[in-house]
Amino acid sequence: MPKFVYDFTEGNKDLKDLLGGKGANLAEMTNLGLPVPPGFTITTDACRVYLEQGQEPPELRDEVSEYLEALEAKMGRKLGQADGPLLVSVRSGAKFSMPGMMDTVLNIGLNDESVLGLAAQADGADSDGKSDRFAWDSYRRLIQMFGKTVLGVDGEHFDEALEEAKRAKGTHNDLDLNAEDLRALVESFKAIVEKEAGRSFPQDPREQMDLAIRAVFESWNGDRAKLYRRQERIPNDLGTAVNVCSMVFGNLGMDSGTGVAFTRDPASGQTGVYGDYLQNAQGEDVVAGIRNTVPLDQLEQIDASSYAELTGIMTTLEQHYRDLCDIEFTIERGKLWMLQTRVGKRTAGAAFRIAVQLVDEGLISQDEAVDRVTGAQLAQLMFPRFDENAKTEQIAKGMNASPGAASGKAVFDSYTAVKWSRSGEKVILIRRETNPDDLNGMIAAQGILTSRGGKTSHAAVVARGMGKTCVCGAESLDVDTKRRRMTAPNGEVVEEGDVISVDGTSGAVYLGEVPVVASPVVEYFEGRLGADSPKADDLVKAVHRIMTWSDERRRLYVRANADTPEDAARARRFGAQGIGLCRTEHMFLGERRALIERLILAEDDDEREAALNELLPMQRDDFVAIFTAMGGLPVTVRLLDPPLHEFLPDITELSVRVAVAEAKGEENENDLRLLQAVHKMHEANPMLGLRGVRLGLVIPGLFMMQVRAIAEAAAQVAKAGGVARVEIMVPLVGAVQELEIIRDEAQQVLDEVKERTGADVRSLIGTMIELPRAALTAGQIAEAAQFFSFGTNDLTQTTWGFSRDDVEGAFFSAYLDRGIFGVSPFETLDREGVGKLVRIAAEEGRKARPELKLGVCGEHGGDPDSVHFFHQVGLDYVSCSPFRVPVARLEAARAAI
Ligand code: ADP
Ligand code: MG
Ligand code: MG
Repeated sequence: MPKFVYDFTEGNKDLKDLLGGKGANLAEMTNLGLPVPPGFTITTDACRVYLEQGQEPPELRDEVSEYLEALEAKMGRKLGQADGPLLVSVRSGAKFSMPGMMDTVLNIGLNDESVLGLAAQADGADSDGKSDRFAWDSYRRLIQMFGKTVLGVDGEHFDEALEEAKRAKGTHNDLDLNAEDLRALVESFKAIVEKEAGRSFPQDPREQMDLAIRAVFESWNGDRAKLYRRQERIPNDLGTAVNVCSMVFGNLGMDSGTGVAFTRDPASGQTGVYGDYLQNAQGEDVVAGIRNTVPLDQLEQIDASSYAELTGIMTTLEQHYRDLCDIEFTIERGKLWMLQTRVGKRTAGAAFRIAVQLVDEGLISQDEAVDRVTGAQLAQLMFPRFDENAKTEQIAKGMNASPGAASGKAVFDSYTAVKWSRSGEKVILIRRETNPDDLNGMIAAQGILTSRGGKTSHAAVVARGMGKTCVCGAESLDVDTKRRRMTAPNGEVVEEGDVISVDGTSGAVYLGEVPVVASPVVEYFEGRLGADSPKADDLVKAVHRIMTWSDERRRLYVRANADTPEDAARARRFGAQGIGLCRTEHMFLGERRALIERLILAEDDDEREAALNELLPMQRDDFVAIFTAMGGLPVTVRLLDPPLHEFLPDITELSVRVAVAEAKGEENENDLRLLQAVHKMHEANPMLGLRGVRLGLVIPGLFMMQVRAIAEAAAQVAKAGGVARVEIMVPLVGAVQELEIIRDEAQQVLDEVKERTGADVRSLIGTMIELPRAALTAGQIAEAAQFFSFGTNDLTQTTWGFSRDDVEGAFFSAYLDRGIFGVSPFETLDREGVGKLVRIAAEEGRKARPELKLGVCGEHGGDPDSVHFFHQVGLDYVSCSPFRVPVARLEAARAAI
């Protein structure tokens, strides 16, 4: 027979699944011998049965009776008895705290008779030395709360009646209503219930309790609660527990009161006494802000012995939970009662500080400290922020796509962004939405603002990857890129060159410059602020220590995706142990476009080779710079991946140019040929077209020019006394045959260069795994590959069959809303689908070649949840953008703990 009820003496803090957080911790405190008003908890099992079957499990009633009788025996009073009644609160409490989302009803057990008994019992609560006012006030609160949460009466009816009573008295203050007034109000409230709920307020205390328990069950599926769960990603099927707790009264006079406290400052992590206290009040008054609370340390003057007891208990709780706790307490006539505790929420900064403080206090181990902070918190600490004290004029709000604070002159196209930033201006790039062409502008800008697209839009994803501030989808802004201006809903027009500020942490857009403060944590990672320098504050010191412990603990190596020497150098400063993805496509842009055009237009081998020969030294210089920056750490270079036509001029632009020239009779032979080529190379779906290894197999000489450039660069670095460890990576392989051909050719080039130069070049040849077929035939492919690198962006696209650029704006938000994804699969690896392919490929690959090196170079390499998965599957390293490297280092350690 299932057990649906636990006395507070029967539970403990580890039973959160069953008893909810509140119930489990009430039990824990009870068993620690702390003063908790006795009570019992109805389990989440009972709630789940209720939600599934629409009625309580049949055994529940008897079990509740049994526990209620035991409680009554302990308290020496019966629930709602006429003289000196036992009163209880019925409180919701799920596994994860959902503040204010569900219902609690206080003062259950009061009725027309017991209200008189309560008055007699509680002598002296009122200023006149009697307790009638207190008793009637408690009763009217019960009818009000019960009417609202249990019987579904619109709260406004009660509020109006209360206002009316105060108006009649000529006051605004609840406290001016006397016992007589409140007794009359009870009558009005009962009439409201009668009229609005179609039934009378139940006088039977047990019926009150049973109905309240049911209402708490039902509040699990209230709209507010559902919305909150979706936002916080709390599963919908957990259900809530219900706590029945004997009432204690903080409103029994000035020697009573209620308060909340933290064992440390949840904002900064400093130790000390933090909290608020309100004399002569019940818990709900503190939240409602009816009167001003006083800082907790003033309780020492008000009631020294309760204060001493409370601070003693706070120490006990911290030692016991070994973490910051928050607390709800009530003092009833000088007697302290604990009503709630839990491990408290805190800011990112406080999390780091507290974790190291607790290690120093000997309460937790280094491993536990690393586990107490998250990569997401670290990322937050790395963004600069606006000065909170600054005066601001907000003109719009969008989505907080990538945190940080940025100010600059408004520009509406990437060209201007780059031009202005080169001349030393700070700019904010404003677009309706961004596309890959905006990359340069995005890099040049301080921040990015778009009026369309969600958190997985191009702007958002790229900005997060770069660690750049971004607000996206600010739909109230009318962005007119042609006229280079945007209009805010208040009519304010921002022209090109006007200064604006965007807050990627809140999504706010401001007019003018809001002053920012730089993140000392980034200064630290950049090496500009030493952890032991006198300028380093305790946050930097805490981050430094946690990162040191993480590096000792993790098994995964962390590399960075970096295409330039500058990025490579930053990646190393941030702790990268190599480059996991060096893209080569940017090496084909700018002035080199002309050479690509020549390569594509080449009509014979000579022309082609001439173009390739000109590209070769340029590529070689690129690689020399990167290998040098990495100082002997491994560098994985990906051979050219995107379709070649991406390097050709835009088809519309070119057509116009040709047509204009024709009209003027100034035809340009080259343009005509180019236009033909562009037409010929046009692809309906370039993502699945002529790209990656296919390009290498179809365009003679292209890949081998790249391999030669890599090999010669490595040889040059070696000759100069350095070390170069290169890993040549072939993209988009689907069949081992493709790889074999490229590998054999590449090996030949490598051997030839090594032999010719006599240099010590350490090289591997491997492939990306980014097509389902590659993953499924990984055993074969591993025969020809010395390493695999999972390209999880493409693997996600090809596994799901959608192209990121096309779907994110189109329907991802609908998919997220309807629960098809909890999170975009481009942000966090889809473990069941894409992850399964990764697992298969890793296993089969290692079976065929035990020393096979395994890594990942998609966006997911810097995503905390995905890092944990890659650790579990046994990869050797993850690679991510330089800015995410510290996050990956930390999460790799947390995965190993
Ligand atoms: P929430 O989860 O919204 O904080 P609670 O169940 O903790 O809801 O209760 C709301 C308020 O009522 C809190 O301030 C709490 O301290 C107070 N409260 C709850 N139960 C009792 C009780 N038995 N005696 C006195 N105050 C109580
Ligand atoms: Mg509470
Ligand atoms: Mg790819």
